[in-house]
Amino acid sequence: MNVKNYQMYINGEFLTSNNQDVIEVLNPATKEIISTIPNGTVQQAQMAIDAAYRAQKSWEKLPAIQRANYLREISNQIRKNADFLAEIITQEQGKILPLAKVEVDFTADYIDYMAEWARRYEGEILQSDRPNENIFIFKQAIGVTTGILPWNFPFFLIARKMAPALLTGNTIVIKPSVETPNNAFEFAKLIHQTSLPKGVFNLVSGHGRSVGNELASNEKVGLVSFTGSVETGVKIMEAASKNIIKVSLELGGKAPAIVMKDADITEAIKHIKNSRIINTGQVCNCAERVYVQKDIYQEFVDKMTQAISKVTYGNPLKQSNVDMGPLVSQSSLESVANMVERALKNGVKATTGGKISSDTSGYYYEPTVLIDVKQDMEIIQKEIFGPVLPILPFDTFDEAIELANDCEYGLTSSIYTKDIDIAMRASKELKFGETYINRENFEAMQGFHAGFRKSGIGGADGKHGLEEYLQTHVVYLQYNTNAK
Ligand code: NAD
Repeated sequence: MNVKNYQMYINGEFLTSNNQDVIEVLNPATKEIISTIPNGTVQQAQMAIDAAYRAQKSWEKLPAIQRANYLREISNQIRKNADFLAEIITQEQGKILPLAKVEVDFTADYIDYMAEWARRYEGEILQSDRPNENIFIFKQAIGVTTGILPWNFPFFLIARKMAPALLTGNTIVIKPSVETPNNAFEFAKLIHQTSLPKGVFNLVSGHGRSVGNELASNEKVGLVSFTGSVETGVKIMEAASKNIIKVSLELGGKAPAIVMKDADITEAIKHIKNSRIINTGQVCNCAERVYVQKDIYQEFVDKMTQAISKVTYGNPLKQSNVDMGPLVSQSSLESVANMVERALKNGVKATTGGKISSDTSGYYYEPTVLIDVKQDMEIIQKEIFGPVLPILPFDTFDEAIELANDCEYGLTSSIYTKDIDIAMRASKELKFGETYINRENFEAMQGFHAGFRKSGIGGADGKHGLEEYLQTHVVYLQYNTNAK
């Protein structure tokens, strides 16, 4: 197999270095090495930040519509290379090809959507208490931004950080996860084919504790936008506090799905099942725990068990029709397997699945349904991030709301009901950044993806997401009414 050797992209150039330490990247469906990436150093992260810093001054001065035109050049490149990019994502991350294709297409659309804000984002003019004065609020770029990425939607997350940053006059340094960096290097190659000025987009790779830490703490950085786990989010906040750097954190989730007795069970099963197996259960806002009203609990468990036991999995580049691929890595596989094992030891039962697959050619875990689960168990309180669905019964709507809210995460929630009053009450009483009624994820690019509690600070998408990349500058203009 042809192993690719990627280079970091700093100041419009691919760095070539003979004695660069490298990190190997695996295909999780086969455990084969598919590429090497530079194990970047703190000094290299500083070079990228310096390049972004130098480029930012003139980038910010361009009319927003010109910055938007550069973004459209990038989205065009993505569309031209969509099939190739989808394969790269599938090969290193393990998601099925149709989902990788959706990720690529959505990314191109997202960049175009953000480009459309060029003529739309606005400042304000305020009434002054003084005569002959105008007060302006300008919305201005922050400066250098950094984006630190996870591995689950690696390609889209580049754009989710880059597009609003660039449109608003910031420059950016991106660091992909070491598990799924190849798509980011391919993205940099596409950027290189556009006329984007040097230093506006930079890509570095390496470990979080070195390169990531520098991107979160360097004094030239104005905003660090991070997507990943709560544990790393805490470290990034700590690192950013050193130089009072603004943080935008999109962290984990433990989305509850509530199924009321009046719900359309067939629809609820379909949506919750799809949400739990999409991307092999590795999505921050997919259903991670289900609460079902007692009257329909047994029927729901039986039907969900049947649906989940029919889920197929395998190597997504070899078997085009499987429902899901492998988990992303050996450590993810172990983490899911250990969490389920601890639950089973504490009296939980698996109605289907419950163990690592007998197919050990990749990191496969059997699609699983768990019952006899208690609210205070780890499997209900902590993120699983795998194709494992615990189901609990409840009596009343109030009880369901209390159980759903009893969690350190607050990203996403859902409810299935035909009752408009229940739907409206749930919209107000579920303490989450997002609630889906009669469906599951995904979110819309014009929405606002943000979590309560430990699921994060700030958020992405839409107008509110764009504003994360802006800071206000108030100007008091005293003028002379006698001027001729
Ligand atoms: P992770 O926290 O392990 O790593 C994410 C990134 O942080 C990687 O690039 C890593 O190198 C870097 N990093 C690690 N330590 C660092 C440090 N000390 N300083 C700076 N950077 C550091 O997360 P992951 O395992 O890649 O991704 C899975 C997690 O991401 C899940 O918890 C999932 O819920 C979350 N996620 C959230 C959203 C959302 O929108 N809320 C979206 C996708 C994923």
